Amino acid sequence: MKLVKLIANLGYGSRKDVQWMFREGRITDADGEVLYADDKVEHAQIRLDGEPLDPPPGMVLMMHKPLGVTCSRKDGGRVVYDLLPPRYRVRDPALSTVGRLDRDTSGLLLFTDDGALLHRIISPKSNVPKVYEATLANDLRGDEAATFASGTLLLESETTPLLPAELEVLEPRKARLTLHEGRYHQVRRMFAAVGNHVEALHRVSVGGLVLGDLPAGEWRMLGEGAVASIF
Ligand code: URA
Repeated sequence: MKLVKLIANLGYGSRKDVQWMFREGRITDADGEVLYADDKVEHAQIRLDGEPLDPPPGMVLMMHKPLGVTCSRKDGGRVVYDLLPPRYRVRDPALSTVGRLDRDTSGLLLFTDDGALLHRIISPKSNVPKVYEATLANDLRGDEAATFASGTLLLESETTPLLPAELEVLEPRKARLTLHEGRYHQVRRMFAAVGNHVEALHRVSVGGLVLGDLPAGEWRMLGEGAVASIF
């Protein structure tokens, strides 16, 4: 791919903007040699104003989604994309969230521009477990784990029962729930189905990838090893 298109597709500006960046000598190689639009250079060697370029298509990042932001692209309020560099919003191919977390859910949220990878992560066939910690309005009764594990629980207005899910009681009003699929508002609706109410919800892991101590609102790029750990 031509350098101008490659850099424009990363969201640094229109092709015209990028052509100006070349004319102004802002695009160099790793040794500071000015590059020209027709040069053939490896992505990793390119610098813009001395800084390495963002990763090429195929990037994956994880965010600690804070409360109060939505996973949509446009919203009246704050959206998760506001927490990323503005150019990430206009990359081509587009960067998308891998599934969604509700505005009132915090925790591990993945983004990628790799459509095949995205579908692999969210497909129930891949059986990638997602672990949530829920704080509840009422004490757990004791029969919820069996109900969730049964594979027969039917959520309101749905016709297919949920896949078996594992519940671990942490405190009378706190539990860890492991899901193997991702339906709309699934955790909240599951607890509603057993007469409870989720007051707070946090996702701690997706597959083998754990949120760890990444502070709320922050994100980091994932390398091949971290992506492989999802499966
Ligand atoms: N289940 C929910 O109810 N909400 C989320 O954000 C994620 C899973």
